[in-house]
Amino acid sequence: MKQDHLLVLASDEYLLPGFIDLHIHAPQWPQAGLALDRPLNEWLDQYTFPLEARYQDTEFAQQVYERLVPELLANGTTTALYFGTIHNTANLILAKAAIKFGQRALIGKVAMDNPNQTPEYYRDDSAKVALQQTEQFIQQVEALHVDIGGNVTPVITPRFIPSCTDETLLGLGQLAQRYDLPIQSHCSESNWEHQFVIDRFGLHDAQVLDKFGLLTNRSVMAHATQLDTQDAALFRSRGTAIAHCPISNAYFGNGVLPVNRLLNQHNKVGLGSDISGGYSPSLYENCRQAVQSARILEDGVDTKLSPEKRGVINSRISMKTAFYLATTGGADSLNIPAGKIEVGKMADLQIVQDQNNCFSVDPADVLERLMYQTNRNNIKKVFVGGQLVHQN
Ligand SMILES: [Zn+2]
Repeated sequence: MKQDHLLVLASDEYLLPGFIDLHIHAPQWPQAGLALDRPLNEWLDQYTFPLEARYQDTEFAQQVYERLVPELLANGTTTALYFGTIHNTANLILAKAAIKFGQRALIGKVAMDNPNQTPEYYRDDSAKVALQQTEQFIQQVEALHVDIGGNVTPVITPRFIPSCTDETLLGLGQLAQRYDLPIQSHCSESNWEHQFVIDRFGLHDAQVLDKFGLLTNRSVMAHATQLDTQDAALFRSRGTAIAHCPISNAYFGNGVLPVNRLLNQHNKVGLGSDISGGYSPSLYENCRQAVQSARILEDGVDTKLSPEKRGVINSRISMKTAFYLATTGGADSLNIPAGKIEVGKMADLQIVQDQNNCFSVDPADVLERLMYQTNRNNIKKVFVGGQLVHQN
């Protein structure tokens, strides 16, 4: 969309802000939808770690990443906060794919060096290596910008507390401060993970991350389903955001994030696909699941209990709230001027066709219909920073 160039929409087309995926594991795209009935630790050990280890093979990395980035753009995702793998060569291939296809990307070299919680074939050899490689990736992305331009931000990325030693967590906090970079990790994702951190530190994830300088106003922590009231207050005081991943949480979260309560308390919350803990690359689908999960939280599920004891009151969210999470909530979490169509924001946009336009509804309801009915085929054009990056 060039300046002074008028683009006229058809009568059944609507202009929406592009979506911001706050949590996605790029290397896990080939297994999206697999083994989602397994417990988290089995899913990691038997599927995820062996797959991620394959990214030592740069040809494989290129094959996957050059498919994933266009797929996300075609689904209206204009910005993504990615976990890569431990391999910087593959991480750079992801950065180059984002630049090539025009996506706004934030990418982390995954740090994971705890020998007790990571397999021998897929781990950083030591804390020193994890930190050196993280710093190397920061410098490689800087060099890439000098070479070919683009819009990639390196991100400090401890996989999650169990897979990192204290030395690595501490060093990563220091690197984030030294280079003034965003941070991403998982926080209190499941019963197992939450309890593991209590057993190791006698503290909750939020407190441990804070102790190591990893809870800042540039941090985005995925899931947080097990966060308690004090943890949520700590997130607020640090300005740390939550990446709500409702599809993934339905499989691995052991609970539903109380999005409505967190938003009312002014916690920062956005939306993530969590490929491949979640199977879908579409934030439309994640918005739908966010509304469904919140409704289930309100109603409860155990019919042995009386209705008034079964659920958590005031948990429902509207589709408008889910849309906020996928747009402004994500932009505010990343501190970027996006997620809204207004002067001063970047032109990250999608043009969507209303396939049920023939059935007239109140204009106020059109957004809801679009959010429920839009699939990849209805997303006609996608722009990042005013540049056309996808056309259908
Ligand atoms: Zn994740």
